[in-house]
Amino acid sequence: MSNVETTSEVLRGLVFDIKRFALHDGQGIRTTAFLKGCPLRCPWCQNPEGISLHRQVWYDHTKCIRCGKCAKACDNGAITLHPESEYYVSLNQQKCNECDFACITACPTDALSFDSKHYTVNELADVLERDRVFYDASQGGITLSGGDPLFQTEYALAVLEECKKRGLHTAIETELVTSLSKLERFVPLVDQFMADLKIWDNTMHLETVGVENKIIKENIQYLADKGVSLIVRMPLIPEITTTKENISSIGRFVASLPGNVPLELINFNPLASGKYTMLQKEYPFSSYTSPYPAEEYWRFVQIAKDAGANTIGGP
Ligand code: SF4
Ligand code: SF4
Repeated sequence: MSNVETTSEVLRGLVFDIKRFALHDGQGIRTTAFLKGCPLRCPWCQNPEGISLHRQVWYDHTKCIRCGKCAKACDNGAITLHPESEYYVSLNQQKCNECDFACITACPTDALSFDSKHYTVNELADVLERDRVFYDASQGGITLSGGDPLFQTEYALAVLEECKKRGLHTAIETELVTSLSKLERFVPLVDQFMADLKIWDNTMHLETVGVENKIIKENIQYLADKGVSLIVRMPLIPEITTTKENISSIGRFVASLPGNVPLELINFNPLASGKYTMLQKEYPFSSYTSPYPAEEYWRFVQIAKDAGANTIGGP
């Protein structure tokens, strides 16, 4: 069952983070809300808590006093204790049915906590509007990110509509894995789209992130044909996206779009490993501990430029 409530009069969404004074999530100074739920399963995901549409339990082993109360409180046997390990508690997400989160209530030290919080449309819009004075001074605004904000479709549309009503500039960061009929509803409510295209080859895209990329390319083409403000973004992921062939192919595609659509290469960010620890998941990129050095980053950019792309951004 989804945690996103759409049937009651009060539409609520699940938000796992809100970042103020964001400088890389669209034009100007912005506040970015991160919505739960994503159709992709990128092994390098920077926000692994954003993938599931369900509320999950974080475990911070540094706060744990090894009392075992959480395991006693769980009727589903979802919690196992490991006296020999640095990580005393492990949580089996398959067995957890999110009951009433008895484990979190039982924990005396806040070592267990929710990874996200419910907000009504107005509650989130109120938070997003708080820094209006900075948006006005910088031509900034608000951004919905995730996860993928298109995944909580009705909630995201309602938040964007409310923000537009309040006169705020709106942007979204999206994977564009959605039907054209849904995407069409977002167009009048979004002032700036930032769309990811990570892997050009369809088979490799499917094998790496779990879905085909045909729909992504079609939706990017649709947005470019519509003439909306659009940036295509490609993350630089070691051994996956940084081949010359991949960068050239994506560069050629973006160069072929109408409207001189910019392509931004996003440097690898190694800082996600702590989140994987909290969610007790393995981080497959733990051997990559730093972003690409500037020289290498610009070498990738040159490949995209040689393919004709109008590149923006930096290392
Ligand atoms: S949320 Fe409920 S079912 Fe899930 S681990 Fe905690 S006590 Fe068990
Ligand atoms: S209840 Fe909290 S402090 Fe006690 S073992 Fe569980 S996580 Fe650790």
